[in-house]
Amino acid sequence: MLSQKIIREDVLSLSAYSVQESKGFIKLDAMENPYPLPENLQKELGQILGQVAINRYPVPSYETLKEKIKVAFRIPLGFEVMLGNGSDELIFLLATALAKKDATLMTVAPTFVIYEMAAKFSKMNFVAVPLKEDFSLDMPKMLEAIQKHKPSILFLSYPNNPTGNLYPDASILELVSAMKDIGIVVSDEAYQPFAHKTMMEYLPSYENLVIMRTVSKLGLAGTRLGYLTAHSAFLNEFEKVRPPYNVNVLTEATANFALTHIDTFFGQTEQICKERDRLKTLLKRKDVTVFDTAANFVLVRVPNADKVFSRLKEKKVLIKNVSAMHPLLNNCLRITVGTPKENEAFLTAFNDAFKE
Ligand SMILES: *Cc1c(COP(=O)(O)O)cnc(C)c1O
Repeated sequence: MLSQKIIREDVLSLSAYSVQESKGFIKLDAMENPYPLPENLQKELGQILGQVAINRYPVPSYETLKEKIKVAFRIPLGFEVMLGNGSDELIFLLATALAKKDATLMTVAPTFVIYEMAAKFSKMNFVAVPLKEDFSLDMPKMLEAIQKHKPSILFLSYPNNPTGNLYPDASILELVSAMKDIGIVVSDEAYQPFAHKTMMEYLPSYENLVIMRTVSKLGLAGTRLGYLTAHSAFLNEFEKVRPPYNVNVLTEATANFALTHIDTFFGQTEQICKERDRLKTLLKRKDVTVFDTAANFVLVRVPNADKVFSRLKEKKVLIKNVSAMHPLLNNCLRITVGTPKENEAFLTAFNDAFKE
């Protein structure tokens, strides 16, 4: 077959990124904001989108949207942003820009799977240093790996997905310093709206620090919009590998609109944080470990993850079974925080799952 002959061997041996079927389920599997856009804003947005010039290409500089992002998300003065079709695309673009022959992409394990995909697709070496059992950074091993592999790029999900924890600023800065003259450190802050923590304040002082964010978890996952900021010596080069029209006009218009109503989204975020803390308390049982989280999801360890997961599924509650992802995640489940009603339904089904 021709396809088998001409497609890259490493691509042929991959399986496609799979997303669970979720129709008819209480959907607590993908870190989405559970609240829809309020009705009055829906109407207003409909009007705006109807008038977008869909016959025209986007303005490739995305000037207006970038200015709004810089203000709403407090990008330090003098720094530019680059936009991506979700931060997923930005991860791939960074790998593309840095994939010199024999270059290495480093991260921790377990973490966000897209980093490894990006390394594979751009044919970079991939190194993942295991976290410690409590999901904290293994600093001696990290520093050793930096010296040994000289990675061009180190991705840190901050807080980490799927574990939910933050790392101390001082540890990250130590890694950034160790990476000086070796590579960049990307602080992937997809969950920043829930963590209220960022490495942004350190950006001006560290030339090899990159801050990456997304509006997905804030309530705009469907629009696919991510942004990153870095020193111009890097940002100008990254811009060269960005497809010129990667953010479409409907996303651009929707994001412009959402940013003028950003308080609505921040309000929802606050509600989710309150629910998260409530869920953390209510999840506690003798036979369940609830891990600390700064994100909009909670990781738990149960005696039998497969059993709890499928019992929940029978009750039409969908979460993520991450047990098979990494040995450190043995019997772990990741639950995205939903609305109070969804969380109640989840908790009932969760407790029922432990009954014989
Ligand atoms: C969800 C997530 C992203 C992807 O965000 P998109 O902007 O929706 O592509 C990036 N990084 C981490 C760690 C995530 O969990």
